[in-house]
Amino acid sequence: MTQVQPQASHFVNGAYREDVAGEAIPVIYPATGEVIATVHAATPAVIEEALASAARAQKEWAALRGVQRGRVLRRAADLIRERNRDLSVLETYDTGKPLSETLVADAWSAADALEYFGGLAATLSGEHIQLGSDFVYTRREPLGVCVGIGAWNYPTQIAAWKGAPALACGNAMVFKPSETTPLGALKLAEILMEAGAPAGLYNVVQGMGAVGAQLIADPRVAKVSITGSVPTGTKVYEAAARAMKHVTLELGGKSPLIVFEDADLESAVSGAILGNFYSTGQVCSNGTRVFVQRGLKDAFLSRVAERLQGVVMGDPQDESTNFGPMVSQRQRDIVEGFIQKGIEEGARLVAGGRRLNRPGFWIEPTVFADVTDDMTIARDEIFGPVMSVLDFDTEEEVLARANATEFGLAAGVFTRDLARGHRVAAGFEAGTCFINAYNLTPVEAPFGGMKRSGIGRENGQAAIEHYSQLKSVYVGMNRVEAPF
Ligand code: NAD
Repeated sequence: MTQVQPQASHFVNGAYREDVAGEAIPVIYPATGEVIATVHAATPAVIEEALASAARAQKEWAALRGVQRGRVLRRAADLIRERNRDLSVLETYDTGKPLSETLVADAWSAADALEYFGGLAATLSGEHIQLGSDFVYTRREPLGVCVGIGAWNYPTQIAAWKGAPALACGNAMVFKPSETTPLGALKLAEILMEAGAPAGLYNVVQGMGAVGAQLIADPRVAKVSITGSVPTGTKVYEAAARAMKHVTLELGGKSPLIVFEDADLESAVSGAILGNFYSTGQVCSNGTRVFVQRGLKDAFLSRVAERLQGVVMGDPQDESTNFGPMVSQRQRDIVEGFIQKGIEEGARLVAGGRRLNRPGFWIEPTVFADVTDDMTIARDEIFGPVMSVLDFDTEEEVLARANATEFGLAAGVFTRDLARGHRVAAGFEAGTCFINAYNLTPVEAPFGGMKRSGIGRENGQAAIEHYSQLKSVYVGMNRVEAPF
């Protein structure tokens, strides 16, 4: 097996750093259940070094010109692309996601983010507002030290989606990966250093939620961006609010995917497959409530069942595998609990539903039909490969039902009626919508949630707003008058 034990648990002040006094965290390969590495949670000493070096590096970094910062990020993007295969193999060990996915969706997406925000760095500017002879100019300034906290489904991508805009704007970052997938972010830190970032600009510290909470509480930290569940996001928001810190919250979802009778059936089925089974269903923006108009229901279900014959659940490092295990035993147990609930509450199991009889955390891609809005599987985020198909009759009815959720991350519609596609997209209460496509999240487009799915946006120019602040400078050109 490839050596996946990192040089040390943390990357702090420009170098790998170990402190075995921190709690040991095993890294488990989800495809086999084997322990493939061990890292240690950050001790207070490691956290202090990370924050102190970030505060120091941030000053030096913010003093550079945008083109200079951008050059470092773009060099890091090039290094990632050169090493894409090795990084993808590592990501597959970290997450269990098949190499056929990680080769195109993880390190590659991280490189896109570094390239995009590297390009934007030189364009950041304020404005000039003339007021007679007086004037105001605005300065777009960095926030300072930002904390990033990751989920386990896209560890490398999340580390870069937070790091790239933060660094482009002149901030430093201390990133805490998910304790389930600690490896990918370390490589990003190493590569940024190699690309010319000052020591301490991008630190990675390991640990459970408690380490994240300690980072957020530190007075040197200006902002936190977390990708995670709604309950965790709520805690982070509360902690940040106590010291009035900036937040970006990328949280969970239970997104609707609406298929009208006039849709291109093959595309709609592909959208539903991508939106439920890519990354074994462990994608926050998944369209897990698939509303199919009644006249298309039978054709849709039989085509989904046929297409599922193409699932290959083999060794994730083999590029012909297209469906991997769940990330952890705990997550698989949660998904099995939901499948059981679906059966108990009367949904019709039309495909999958069983775990595989082999080591690791495998579970079949699962499809339920005849799902109704009140069922647990239609209300709760499952975060696994479980598609719920619901019936509907009219546009008005389906839009109301699609929006009847506390979440608002994503939503999709398949139809050949262009006006209807745009009308439905406008009606969705969700931050990231798709017409005749699903789950495409290019770095150029803002991504994020409405309602309880989050605050703020990642990617696109919108992300700049969340990693910088404006200062207005009023310049008086005349003699100052006062009433007395
Ligand atoms: P999680 O909420 O359990 O953990 C997320 C991160 O928060 C982890 O690094 C964890 O250690 C940390 N954490 C936990 N408690 C904390 C605290 N009190 N203070 C600070 N940090 C704390 O989520 P997960 O199980 O890793 O990921 C799955 C969830 O993430 C799902 O709900 C999914 O929808 C969501 N997600 C959202 C997006 C998005 O972009 N919107 C992307 C991927 C995943």
